[in-house]
Amino acid sequence: MELEKKLNGLVNPLRPGPNDNNLAYQVPLHSYRARMASLSRLSEVGTAEVKGLAGKRSQALSKAGIHSVADLLHHVPRRYIDRSVKSPIAQIPIGSEVTVIGEVRSVSMRRPRRNLAIIEARIADESATIKAVWFNQTFRKSQLREGAQVALSGVVESFRGALQMKSPAVDVLDSPSESLITGRVVPIHGSVGEVSPGIMRRAIHNALLRSRPIEDTVPPQFIKRHELIDRDQAFGDIHFPETIEDVGPARERLVYDELFRLELALAVQKRKQMMEATGVAHEVSGGLVRRFLQGLPYSLTSAQTRVLSEIETDLKVAHPMHRLLQGEVGSGKTVVAVSTLLHGIEGGWQGAIMAPTEVLAGQHYLGVRQLLAEAGLSPGLQGAGAQMGMDSLFDSGEPAVHLALLTGSVATANYRPDITKAELLEDIAAGQVDLVVGTHALIQEGVHFHSLGVAVVDEQHRFGVAQRVQLREKADLVEPDLLIMTATPIPRTLSMTLYGDLDVSVIDEMPPGRTPVGTTLLSKMEEGTAWNLIEKEIAQGRQAFVVCPLVEDSPKVEAASAVAEHKRLSGLLADLRVGLIHGQLRSADKEAVMSDFRAVEVGIDIPNATVMVIEDADRFGLSQLHQLRGRVGRGEHAGTCLLIADATTEEGEGRLAAMVATNDGFRLAEEDLAIRGQGTVFGTRQSGVKDLKLADILEDFELLVAARRDAFGLVDADPHLDNHPELVKEVKGMLGDSVEWLFVS
Ligand code: ADP
Ligand code: MG
Repeated sequence: MELEKKLNGLVNPLRPGPNDNNLAYQVPLHSYRARMASLSRLSEVGTAEVKGLAGKRSQALSKAGIHSVADLLHHVPRRYIDRSVKSPIAQIPIGSEVTVIGEVRSVSMRRPRRNLAIIEARIADESATIKAVWFNQTFRKSQLREGAQVALSGVVESFRGALQMKSPAVDVLDSPSESLITGRVVPIHGSVGEVSPGIMRRAIHNALLRSRPIEDTVPPQFIKRHELIDRDQAFGDIHFPETIEDVGPARERLVYDELFRLELALAVQKRKQMMEATGVAHEVSGGLVRRFLQGLPYSLTSAQTRVLSEIETDLKVAHPMHRLLQGEVGSGKTVVAVSTLLHGIEGGWQGAIMAPTEVLAGQHYLGVRQLLAEAGLSPGLQGAGAQMGMDSLFDSGEPAVHLALLTGSVATANYRPDITKAELLEDIAAGQVDLVVGTHALIQEGVHFHSLGVAVVDEQHRFGVAQRVQLREKADLVEPDLLIMTATPIPRTLSMTLYGDLDVSVIDEMPPGRTPVGTTLLSKMEEGTAWNLIEKEIAQGRQAFVVCPLVEDSPKVEAASAVAEHKRLSGLLADLRVGLIHGQLRSADKEAVMSDFRAVEVGIDIPNATVMVIEDADRFGLSQLHQLRGRVGRGEHAGTCLLIADATTEEGEGRLAAMVATNDGFRLAEEDLAIRGQGTVFGTRQSGVKDLKLADILEDFELLVAARRDAFGLVDADPHLDNHPELVKEVKGMLGDSVEWLFVS
């Protein structure tokens, strides 16, 4: 109480005043503060040390990812109520949407019927009283204590001559004795678990008192260049602004800092890769790739040609390639990837293709085998032992690529289909295999390469920084060149953050002769349309997919619903052969169904499939929908995608509308980002983006570009940031374990 009185007396309670040293702290000041607190230091101090947060509360915060005082200071208000813009109750125009602030005079609850509870409160300011009504929100009764200051937001109506708000949003500003709401702007911090906005506000206030002034570690020239405000002031202003105009510059500064830290980590990582890793300087002028490309029944699109030459530039130099290859499903990434691998293979190196699942690995194997066969690069089949001691690429005078598939359940090779797993492992270690296709298990288990020179990874999503480190460790002496393929179009905003240490190539052109897949939305009532179309297309010799969603996060449930739907459709489409695939099938069974489905085995491609029906389509993410749609219409016949859904959420509806509106994957990706928000777009993958607490990479794109340029410039001039030790500490402290390895020397 003493403290609060004292604070009331200060003009701005947050500016450290002469009396600060008299304040009673739970923990001695010096325990986490010498003279000036740094964020790195504050990231080591637990929230339990903050007055008001000991015990259960700090545990609740931890669950929400707020572990340290530094985290706490980044829990910024979700909004502000500006009390200087007064809306006296008496002057509110009927029908307008406003926030009124007043004192709770009375609260009551009645139950006119079973299942109906009506809560009424009367709120008064100096000018008038307004009535607020809520239905069945019984928690309001205890939330609205008599005498408390509250802010009600909603539409004002006139009811029997009196002012009324129906179900307004409520922000309890504080109990009357509270001091922090006397300023002109009241910050509304989000509650965290059981910890209410009021408690958060007071705790953050306490934390600021003990932490300020907060040291600024960003080089002053950058602050000046972007006209940013001082960091210490920014923390004060974002939590307790004097005027609402103070919030913008404060947020801008903190967002810049956050992005700057992320980009610094990426810059250091990239620099490390460039400086320290020894890679292979591949020869790219040999004839093998030319021969391979000439063997194809088509010529490369100009996008494919451009991307391949970007890759060749990387291959030629000695430091390892880290390149992201983006392109829509069907844009022809595989041909480019195989060309990349062949450059290495021609020089005597081995190549690997890693896929996220066994099914995809199998499909890649079949696709690559087909491509090699078309180009006349398949070896003649040989009996056991025939390969020993021979150079696999030229062992019969003609160049031939020894290709193998290795997954948990399958081992096979194009030179020896009946090879056992043990034999294949031996061949890989002896250098008898030129190119291995498999899952990520290739780098995780006991697979020893003779000389891995180029690795292609399909789908970055499950291949994060940690896997890249593993890959590096696979190769004893040299680090292989790495090409990461993804069919998920990644907006530039994300490729600058998530993949900030990668170079990016984009195949932005589809092979000629593809008609875009027509997309139609059907309600569940209209699903018959879909089955009719399937029957019609199949009568003309085409094939179709029906995809049902994973209703719960359980493979068992997925299997059950796919099985049930399979049964239903088998009945509905009695004349057709309906196959079934789901996550619980054994790999061998999956392969069997897929090869039944493929008239000709051409890997991932089923050019004959023209219809994609997606049930409960609103439950899929936008990029997933787009990927599924890409599976049809890949041959000469136009494809159709039918989305069956009765969307129950606005988001779901938005996704479906976007799907119907465009076939452009990049536009859909941007849309996805806008609908879902950056935190969820890429799910649980490890990334810098999920660590962003303040920045919104769409909204703050300009700051992102600025921070990136500054960070990369700084690292160029000072590769180990020797002149910025505090900055290094801060990046480590704030980004945590995920960047720790960057700075080990
Ligand atoms: P992605 O891996 O990007 O999904 P693929 O490499 O599997 O795409 O190619 C899709 C299909 O397009 C394959 O059937 C492939 O043979 C074919 N294709 C690839 N490049 C071309 C091209 N330049 N012209 C015509 N067809 C192509
Ligand atoms: Mg290289």
